[in-house]
Amino acid sequence: MTAGPPEGPAADLATTATAPAVVEAAGVGKIFGTGPSAVTALESIDLTIRQGEFVSLIGPSGCGKSTLLRLIADLTPPTTGTLTINGKPAARARLDRDYGMVFQAPVLMDWRTIARNIELPLEIMGWKPAGRANRSAELLKLVELEGFEGRHPWQLSGGMQQRVAIARALAFGPKLLLMDEPFGALDEMTRERMNLELMRIWGRTQTTVVFVTHSIPEAVFLSTRVVVMSARPGRVAKVVDIDMPQPRTVETRETERYFELVTEVREALRQRGGDSTAESVAAERIRAEGLA
Ligand code: ADP
Ligand code: MG
Repeated sequence: MTAGPPEGPAADLATTATAPAVVEAAGVGKIFGTGPSAVTALESIDLTIRQGEFVSLIGPSGCGKSTLLRLIADLTPPTTGTLTINGKPAARARLDRDYGMVFQAPVLMDWRTIARNIELPLEIMGWKPAGRANRSAELLKLVELEGFEGRHPWQLSGGMQQRVAIARALAFGPKLLLMDEPFGALDEMTRERMNLELMRIWGRTQTTVVFVTHSIPEAVFLSTRVVVMSARPGRVAKVVDIDMPQPRTVETRETERYFELVTEVREALRQRGGDSTAESVAAERIRAEGLA
């Protein structure tokens, strides 16, 4: 994958159940510690994420969203079940650098320029300076930060810093991008702009994304599917298909279907279940317009 011209909406692939599986979790459970102090963070997670999908994980704090991402990334092993990434064990996928990760804090090195922050993983892998420079120029273009390559992280806004972190995560052109509340620390306006930016990047790279968020509107706006998780032990409570057309734009947030889906996710989180009533959809619209 390179930062080439747009190749059409990545969701085309997601709509076909035949796209290759990128993440396959079967009976995945995670228990931290042993004995009376043991914490069951996740229980019997079955989830298949296919190429080109954008899947959000949403659920109450402590329900195991970050743990699930860390299991996919092989940063911690599952206690039960199996995880397969691109058809391989998670450990193999990690060694093959099949995924990139973005966290809530962009963790940039202040003494390095923007270009050299993006080039860091390439440097570690022994890429030559010319190759590194070409790749970081390509990535800077992708995240629309051309001209900022010589600046330092502290000279950039929070949103721009997060774009640098995204560029760095995409350095090796991973098939999978794992994002843990990447816009959680940004103000609402910046977050909405970053959501649009991320949609554009996703459309161009065709990377499969697993995205953790606390924000229902963000999850609905971005995703092809939203996985609603229940409180500890974390389980998949409901999977909501986000059947809104691509590409998503500012108008997407004003459609009736958007409000219906936001309501559906909100109700699944409340564990009320059942269908969304016309009344709760109307309430959602009033809430959104009140904030506008
Ligand atoms: P979320 O990201 O959904 O807020 P986490 O995945 O961070 O939740 O945590 C899920 C549960 O597992 C929490 O109860 C948390 O305290 C526990 N947990 C997470 N990581 C560890 C760890 N390294 N050691 C012990 N408990 C942990
Ligand atoms: Mg978390």
